[in-house]
Amino acid sequence: MLRKFVALSFLVSLCASLNFAHGKHENENQTQEITVKTVKITDQIYMLQGRGGNVGVSAGTDGILIVDDDYAQVAPKIAEALKSLGSDKPRFIFNTHWHGDHTQGNNFFGKDSVIVAHTNVRRRLATEALFRGEKFVPYPKFALPSITFDQSTRIHFNDEEILAVHYPNGHTDGDSVIFFTKANVVHMGDHFFANRFPFVDMESGGSVLGLTKNIADVINRVPADVKIIPGHGNLSTLTDLKNYHQMLTETTGIVQKGMIGGKTLEGIKKDGLPAKYQSWGSGFIKTDVWIETIYKSLSASRKQ
Ligand SMILES: [Zn+2]
Repeated sequence: MLRKFVALSFLVSLCASLNFAHGKHENENQTQEITVKTVKITDQIYMLQGRGGNVGVSAGTDGILIVDDDYAQVAPKIAEALKSLGSDKPRFIFNTHWHGDHTQGNNFFGKDSVIVAHTNVRRRLATEALFRGEKFVPYPKFALPSITFDQSTRIHFNDEEILAVHYPNGHTDGDSVIFFTKANVVHMGDHFFANRFPFVDMESGGSVLGLTKNIADVINRVPADVKIIPGHGNLSTLTDLKNYHQMLTETTGIVQKGMIGGKTLEGIKKDGLPAKYQSWGSGFIKTDVWIETIYKSLSASRKQ
């Protein structure tokens, strides 16, 4: 039953991402009750699971720092959960990337917090653009990152060194991975969908090969007993991240082999992926969509 519940909440959060990804409003969900689950990772680090991306929290004597802030309509519930950890006004917010299921809460928290993100996150959030066929409306000034960086930055907070490292052209072109170095916890943003095929936003500069390379880099960087907060899904281990990397390389290899052998996209989809990856396609990104993502990403990299 618990499993069923977990699977269901995962699905709900991914459906929310899907709505975002398609630029739809969430009116149909607004009548449903929003709940936020608090998962304690260490004495000072927590993960909040609402409807969008997972929120990382550092809570201590310096106050609250969060990584990502969920959808706008979830933010008041995030604030409630933060209040029970010390304060509902975070001093700092990291945005791992620009997608609304990770940044819309900026509009709720931004007047009281300092928002920090990669340069491309601010650029995208500040620019009117067509995204997935719909108009993206720029955030107001107070909801934009006021501190931006190109490579990496550190915040020294709650006796912890919180390190943000930019990983280029993975999920988007503005992703950061956040390392809580002392607590040995990492927030991966949407570079990591736990046990599911990921969404790779090629329209925002993402690429499957870039994502795979970035995941290998993180695997080489972290200790064996690291605790990993995925962008979506449950708290994970290094083994989970290694399995994910294995999935990325194996499924990319299968599609690449098909392409070299002259198969069409439809032909590769028809062949499918090994049975062991069936459950990976049960989330937001179905197996066919994942195959198509790899195909398009490989085609784009060939043209470069
Ligand atoms: Zn995302």
